[in-house]
Amino acid sequence: MLPDFRVRQRDYLLEISRALTEELDLATVLTRILHGATELLAGQAGLVVLREEEGRWRIRAHYGIPEAFLDSFKPMLADIPEHGDARRFALPEINRRLRATTEAASLGLLHGVALPMVARNEIVGLIYIFRGYATAFTNNDRTLLASFANQAAIAVHNARLYQQTSAEKRRLDAILDSSADGILIMNAGHRIQRFNRALARLTGWNAAEALGRSHDEVIRWASRQAGPDLAEAEAGGWPLASNPTPLYVEGDLLRQGGGYLPAGITYAPLLEADGKLVNLIANVRDITKFREAEALKSTFISVISHELRTPVSLIKGYAETLAREDAKWDADVVRDSLAVIEEEADRLAGLIDNLLDASRLQAGAMRLDMSEVALDQLVARVVEKFKTQTHDHTLRVEFPPNFPIVSGDEARLIQVVQNLVSNALKYSPGGGEVLVRGTVEAERVVVSVTDHGPGIATPDLPHVFERFYRADSDLTRRVKGTGLGLYLAKAVVEAHGGKIWVTSEPGQGATFAFALPR
Ligand code: ADP
Repeated sequence: MLPDFRVRQRDYLLEISRALTEELDLATVLTRILHGATELLAGQAGLVVLREEEGRWRIRAHYGIPEAFLDSFKPMLADIPEHGDARRFALPEINRRLRATTEAASLGLLHGVALPMVARNEIVGLIYIFRGYATAFTNNDRTLLASFANQAAIAVHNARLYQQTSAEKRRLDAILDSSADGILIMNAGHRIQRFNRALARLTGWNAAEALGRSHDEVIRWASRQAGPDLAEAEAGGWPLASNPTPLYVEGDLLRQGGGYLPAGITYAPLLEADGKLVNLIANVRDITKFREAEALKSTFISVISHELRTPVSLIKGYAETLAREDAKWDADVVRDSLAVIEEEADRLAGLIDNLLDASRLQAGAMRLDMSEVALDQLVARVVEKFKTQTHDHTLRVEFPPNFPIVSGDEARLIQVVQNLVSNALKYSPGGGEVLVRGTVEAERVVVSVTDHGPGIATPDLPHVFERFYRADSDLTRRVKGTGLGLYLAKAVVEAHGGKIWVTSEPGQGATFAFALPR
């Protein structure tokens, strides 16, 4: 038969280990430990003090001490060294301080014993047991308390691990959810286990609905670039090679609810130490921008080669003809030919300027050289120049008197008006009136250019200010151009804090207008 207190000790330790595995919260487990230890050591009260992250000590569990008196133990805690020798806590010094503390608080505790709680060679806290009568703690008492201290240390260690794991998990969740790329995590059998917010946005799937489904239900390719998709790669042995590289699949994904998403998916395997596949992590990137850039690059090359070739071959043709030694040209022919060469050289220079402007714009905002500008006079000068270039059109300027002076970059604004008037002439080959009007509003002035050409089809309207955009019409195909003029005009007007827009009734002509702040 075990002596009575041995039985109770065994029962307490059993209860505590049960509590430890029951995932009770730390304070509850510590209080149970204290309760057991106080009873078995025939004490009246107990405390568990834990070291917090910043190295300070804090009472985390108490037994037999009213809440209101806990503060009186604070001075005692302040004396615990941060990285002290465990034995120091057993010194009679504790008793001296304890008496001082409890007498002051009239708690009547006379003797105390304290033992460090050690987990993985680190002191995580202290356990104190107090007696209110004059029997000092024996070595036996201390041995007994040590087993409780060990249990408490394990509880604290587990709780900290749990805290760390859940903090880690929250961190991972935050990373997944703040990622701009779609992230999908699935098990080896392709069941989706994680589906982040960006992926929900990209694919149109509700994350909750996607979870638990198979990868192939959610990731459906409408079209795909050459190369294997996930299933084909796995059939070929991926990723179970000794050193698997990520798998990249690119194409158009079918979105839930209709439409496509140009996407590139990188699959990476998560393998266990023995090489067994645990998870596949798919990183889904929206490559719309990349595709647009590719398309723009090829447009750029075709526009440039087409637009540069024409003036270059004209210049070369005229120069070659003039240089022929077997022919004698009269002065008129020479003058006309040189005029063509000069005109085409100007066109080339203009084209190069536009390209440079466009590429500078891409690198950053447009810089303006500001001064006071009289728009009415500026428009009159530009229109005067164009009058000599057309016989089919009547050019009319209509500005109210005392048109307000605005502040702007004169050369750039000339470029805008030239572009609008030149377009009005180019895109109304049948002739007719081109009207340039100025109007004054409370906070801005508006300049508009109206022609009577065929106008712009409604689907093209939102795009005419885009870089390299040219409407897909017979007329546009016949007329030379790069699709840069309106793009640059818009940049100039917006750099002035203004606005540019177009209205057009197909068949009725077009009106381009811009407004600048007064
Ligand atoms: P470009 O004239 O060099 O093609 P722009 O950027 O000046 O380039 O114009 C873009 C497109 O907008 C043109 O290709 C043409 O299709 C359309 N557009 C511009 N102005 C007019 C207009 N006045 N009438 C009809 N279409 C126009």
